[in-house]
Amino acid sequence: MTVENILELLQSVAPFETQEEWDNSGLLVGSPRQEVASVLFALDATERVIDEAAALGASLIVTHHPLMLHGRRRLTDEDYEGRIVSRLIRENISLIAAHTNLDQAAGGINDMLCALCGLDDGAGEGFFRCGTLAEPVPAETFAWMLEDSLGDSVRLMGPKDTMIRRVGLCSGGGSEFWEAAEKAGCDAFIAGEIRHHHALAMADAGIVAFECGHFATEEPGIRALAEALQNCLNEVECNVRVFVSNVPAYAFPKET
Ligand SMILES: [Zn+2]
Repeated sequence: MTVENILELLQSVAPFETQEEWDNSGLLVGSPRQEVASVLFALDATERVIDEAAALGASLIVTHHPLMLHGRRRLTDEDYEGRIVSRLIRENISLIAAHTNLDQAAGGINDMLCALCGLDDGAGEGFFRCGTLAEPVPAETFAWMLEDSLGDSVRLMGPKDTMIRRVGLCSGGGSEFWEAAEKAGCDAFIAGEIRHHHALAMADAGIVAFECGHFATEEPGIRALAEALQNCLNEVECNVRVFVSNVPAYAFPKET
């Protein structure tokens, strides 16, 4: 398998042309012709993730977040992103990002988050999903449930005894989608990060906000993409090895 073959399989799961105009998903570093025996999935290409890829002999990393989102006019090791890109080139590791295409894809980041939050139907389109809890619960109880299923601390913004039944969500920094939750008649809205002025507007609208962490709301989706690729590889009876990163969120680079 080549990087290009993997790109085509990922395309079948989360079509790259569905990405937002400002996004930079697709093959960002490396060569379509590079042979891939192992691929590593991670939320971000960090120094520690590159260490991990090198140790696994993975010549391809697939991340959710892209690099070079804002264009570059020089590539040096004087800034964080420059160091990462330079190192990928040095280590001969290709990088593919599946960002806003994966957010929106069926079975992608937001669908995974919806399922993990215990919401049944997972209605909605684009970046927004909403669904209903099997049993209404007080907001404080729902926060504990979210901490349990997402594995990070949850910040509850609103009265903690509000009964929660219908919930809207958007992973990562998508707190602006709370208005879709209001339109959908939700009691609550979940995002990775909630901007303060969105929290105030939600409080005014009687919607409880749950801030669950950027990494925690998106990592399950990259795991799902790895699984989807594994299924594609099984179908074509290809033995490329698929790994999901074990590097904790916000790990420091290893001291050398
Ligand atoms: Zn994100």
